Amino acid sequence: MQLGMAMWQYLLIGLIGGNALFIGLGGIVHWWYYVRNRDNSQRWKIQPERFLAKRLDREAMWLGIFNYNLATVVMATLAWGVFEHGWSRLYFDFAEHGWDYTVLSLFLCWLFIEAAAYYMHAGGHLPWFYKRFHYIHHRYSTPTFWTISAMHPLEWIAHASYIALPAFIIPMHIGVYMSVVAMTFILGYWDHCGIKFPRIPLHGSNRFHDDHHKYFHVNFGFTCNLFDRIHDTARREGHHYDELTFNGGQGIVRKPEALGERAMGPALKY
Ligand SMILES: [Zn+2]
Ligand SMILES: [Zn+2]
Repeated sequence: MQLGMAMWQYLLIGLIGGNALFIGLGGIVHWWYYVRNRDNSQRWKIQPERFLAKRLDREAMWLGIFNYNLATVVMATLAWGVFEHGWSRLYFDFAEHGWDYTVLSLFLCWLFIEAAAYYMHAGGHLPWFYKRFHYIHHRYSTPTFWTISAMHPLEWIAHASYIALPAFIIPMHIGVYMSVVAMTFILGYWDHCGIKFPRIPLHGSNRFHDDHHKYFHVNFGFTCNLFDRIHDTARREGHHYDELTFNGGQGIVRKPEALGERAMGPALKY
């Protein structure tokens, strides 16, 4: 499928559309809650008492916008390659494979992204990587939507890579792939905005990732908590966590007697 457009046109559409969505739409929601309704934070904020200091808020905004545009340039270039030169394994005609394969490819694409997101994120919490790269994303202990992409640029590129990669290794319809990419963007927003948004089936509450920013080395999953349950990295009730507690979900139990025989509080339900 060729749209007959030059690379600069892909870049222009990507940058205008991407920024309209990120700075425009995201900014309006942010303004409504964080500026207009700041005094009512008890009603809408996940961490109602806490706001980022002005300097940190600004830093997250500029770093977030810089990284977001970096990814947009890479993605727009890839889109040019996909549409104009057939680089990927995406196909454009549903009839090429049946509906059963369409559903399977959707599942495989999601699983690829979720597994990569979890293991890369959990890897970022190993002390060596944390102290060099991932700590930047954790400067924002009460996240706002700018913090979706506020991290070390190398880490951000690694995250963008596993979102782009399925298009090049899993044959799937363009619509399937675009739906998964759109879902990752929406959930990234949902989880970082710091606003009490409705619970989403399978995904759970957006407090899950907000708690990741608050308690550091817990809750690494992205679209769900599947891998956190497998690896016991979900936050547990009664356990203590801080930036130096590199223990995954187990954290530190300060009063084992308060938690009974096993001194292991139950994993929180989000
Ligand atoms: Zn983290
Ligand atoms: Zn985050």
